[in-house]
Amino acid sequence: MQPLLETRDLHVSFVTDDTATQVVRGIDLNVGRGEIIGLVGESGSGKSVTCMAAMGLLDGNARLDGEIRWNGERLHSQDDTAMSALRGKALAMIFQDPMSALNPVQTLGKQLYEAIQLHSTRRLGRSELKQRAIQLLSDVGVPAPEQRLKAYPHQLSGGLNQRLVIAMMLAGDPSLLIADEPTTALDVTVQAQIIDLLRRLRDQRGMSIILVTHDLGVVAQSCDRVLVMYCGRVVESGPVRAVFNNARHPYTRGLLASLP
Ligand code: ADP
Ligand code: MG
Repeated sequence: MQPLLETRDLHVSFVTDDTATQVVRGIDLNVGRGEIIGLVGESGSGKSVTCMAAMGLLDGNARLDGEIRWNGERLHSQDDTAMSALRGKALAMIFQDPMSALNPVQTLGKQLYEAIQLHSTRRLGRSELKQRAIQLLSDVGVPAPEQRLKAYPHQLSGGLNQRLVIAMMLAGDPSLLIADEPTTALDVTVQAQIIDLLRRLRDQRGMSIILVTHDLGVVAQSCDRVLVMYCGRVVESGPVRAVFNNARHPYTRGLLASLP
């Protein structure tokens, strides 16, 4: 089956003062429909840069090499209009800090209405926006959704804000979600709830997910396949169980040894 997203021999370097530093060194990644792929690696190993490259979100100092394919179709530079179109619709990304995706001085309702309108082909009326917003909030497990519409982000917990960001992203009905350490900043119990939510989105909507995490327990529970990155390279990849049972790289072995 054709992968949804594929990178082949992806290299990324950053250019500063005429020197180029390579931080991603030949990544082959493929994500099938409805798959959850874990991306693991120590801080600075190139996980976020790989994700940003796949989303076409790297800034002007970045130099990309290799191929990125979406549904088999090759995308070119990170400024490619095809890439922005994909970002608007098929691809979405969430980050560690939900506040980075939220406007602190706008109510949840207003932010959701804007996200819903952005992805709609026609102008929606107030009551339709409200109805859809409430539906999205309940889809992501926000309790008493109607009462939340008038709240501001600072009035909600980190976990609820992360749910709100996921609801806003669902307004675009993306095929692939890249979740870059979406729970690192949250309490342990809330972490588990957000991971459950992601799994449910895969089960119910067939969404594909790249889940960047430090937590091998989370990978064991929720991922189909895992890639372990070290210094910009993939040092381990395959079905979770196979990788866990047959880890070769010292970094992966160390991580596994520290699992409770
Ligand atoms: P990870 O997500 O695995 O912790 P990153 O992908 O964020 O790591 O970073 C990989 C390396 O690339 C790091 O050494 C980081 O300092 C460097 N890097 C990331 N973004 C930039 C940038 N915009 N300019 C220069 N270097 C960067
Ligand atoms: Mg990162």
